[in-house]
Amino acid sequence: MKKSPSDAAAAENFLPKDVQEQLKEVFRPLPNDIPVYLFSRKGEDQEEIQTGRNLMAALQLVSDKIKFKEYDLGHQQAPKWGIDRSPTLVFAPEQYSIKYLGLPLGEEGRTLIETLILIGLGRSQLNDQARKVMARINEPRQVRVFVSPSCPYCPQQAVNAVKAAIEKPGLVSVEIVDTNYNADLAERYQAFSVPQTWAGEVLIARGAQPQELFVSSLEQMEEQAYFIPASDAPRVEADLVIIGGGPAGLTAGIYAARSGLKTVIVERANLGGQVALTPVVENYPGVKRIAGKDLVDIMAAHALQYVKIFPREPVMDIKLGRPIELLTSLRRFSARAVLLATGAAHKKLGAPGEDRLAGRGVSYCSTCDGPLFKGKKVAMVGGGNSAVTEALHLYHLGAQVTLIHRREALRAQEHLVQDLFDKKIPVLWNTEVKEIRGREKVTEIELYNHQTKKTETLPVDGVFVSIGYTPEVELAKKIGLDLTPEGYIQHDGRHRTNIPGVYSAGDVEGGYKQIVVAAGAGAAAAMTIFEDLTHPYWQEARPASRS
Ligand code: NAP
Repeated sequence: MKKSPSDAAAAENFLPKDVQEQLKEVFRPLPNDIPVYLFSRKGEDQEEIQTGRNLMAALQLVSDKIKFKEYDLGHQQAPKWGIDRSPTLVFAPEQYSIKYLGLPLGEEGRTLIETLILIGLGRSQLNDQARKVMARINEPRQVRVFVSPSCPYCPQQAVNAVKAAIEKPGLVSVEIVDTNYNADLAERYQAFSVPQTWAGEVLIARGAQPQELFVSSLEQMEEQAYFIPASDAPRVEADLVIIGGGPAGLTAGIYAARSGLKTVIVERANLGGQVALTPVVENYPGVKRIAGKDLVDIMAAHALQYVKIFPREPVMDIKLGRPIELLTSLRRFSARAVLLATGAAHKKLGAPGEDRLAGRGVSYCSTCDGPLFKGKKVAMVGGGNSAVTEALHLYHLGAQVTLIHRREALRAQEHLVQDLFDKKIPVLWNTEVKEIRGREKVTEIELYNHQTKKTETLPVDGVFVSIGYTPEVELAKKIGLDLTPEGYIQHDGRHRTNIPGVYSAGDVEGGYKQIVVAAGAGAAAAMTIFEDLTHPYWQEARPASRS
């Protein structure tokens, strides 16, 4: 089809110039053509399909290896490649079975770019540990990953699946299901939190996994929590290993490396910690208003100029000594000092039904799962900054949200509270969630008002829980760090723990849980570590030698 001048201009302007230049560099050395076909039904969602078309046209300007064609859903190729939904993108279908049901916009743009690169490369890029597991899979696997364009963790899981399909083209087929376009599929699989991964009719993972855990779950057909690396795992030597890639860890990385320490950051999931899941940040100095994920991307890009970062590598073990030895799911590290910036995890309500219905209407991430509840009734539980920010976010997404708070005053900042009232978001005061009910998915919650002593049932499709955080101190406990009575890592005010050479920073230490405070603690901890490594306080002063 010949492009009109306006189509050509739209394609030209779709991506910022600097991104176009970067992508040209990335695609240039790829050896293979990258066929991509878009199937859509005539007359349907024309505006959105046009956006997808512009995106693909923009990518074709970046690389002529991308061979893009459009087909009507009624075309004879559709049944041949098993396509029956509009819109669907199919990638190199003569070689692989990789489909994207929907249009990869928002965060899913990353899935698209990585898929194109992997196909152009013709290799899965799985690490050695994961390839060893894939080699053991000898039966077909039909993988379905449910994603949403606002979920920052989804591309990781979607790309894991794409890698598996490229590693075992005859056996592994992949459908990445954009829940925005395929609400019926999400409903059928009860996929109300994303990412969620199925192999055939078996749920094999909730959330994003490191690639070795993904392939293990695919092999075992059951979610795997641990991966034991082979004994020949490679070794990395450093002055400082930072565990945790949130604001504290990233800032510590910048400061430590700039002071001359060889520093690495190891993060068990994706970078950013809780901030990456925050819809909007409005109080980080110098930045008036920014999506949490965008702020993390800026911090990570800055840190990467100085330190090597190993994301999606959970630390499995720490052996104290000189040096300190660490084992992750992929390699060994040895270091003169370790900084725990492990952050905090969301707290659970503890109400009956909460665990059973997690991912089936119970969610802890409105940024990821909010779009699935557009037009639906949801409860947001909590009364702090997070709950109010997220209630507003759900409101803006078009959900019918009710805030449920156990007291009669909110903890959140005044301007957030005012915004909540301005939007007339209903608040149930003095109310606790006693039970979350539903057979396959959430249908109602039981509430108790401890002022009126009345119990009532509220019909809802979803329950978002945002009631604060608990510190991530599993590793700290394992190596014997002292904790405060509240369960945070105890330190001396300069981020030294009770074990020489081991430090803490950020939310894991308690105190004000603010991004700028965590970043400040990371900087301070790095400066203490630099001082200690140059003048170790744990080395006893030796008596002056007699002449
Ligand atoms: P938070 O400030 O600790 O508030 C937790 C809320 O959940 C409180 O209202 C608390 O009720 C309620 N709660 C706790 N346990 C509960 C339970 N078992 N059942 C029902 N309700 C329960 O937590 P957060 O809002 O997640 O924020 C965490 C930190 O991040 C805070 O320091 C916050 O300021 C910061 N943050 C800042 C921003 C921002 O500045 N824009 C945004 C998000 C978060 P009570 O009030 O009765 O204790």
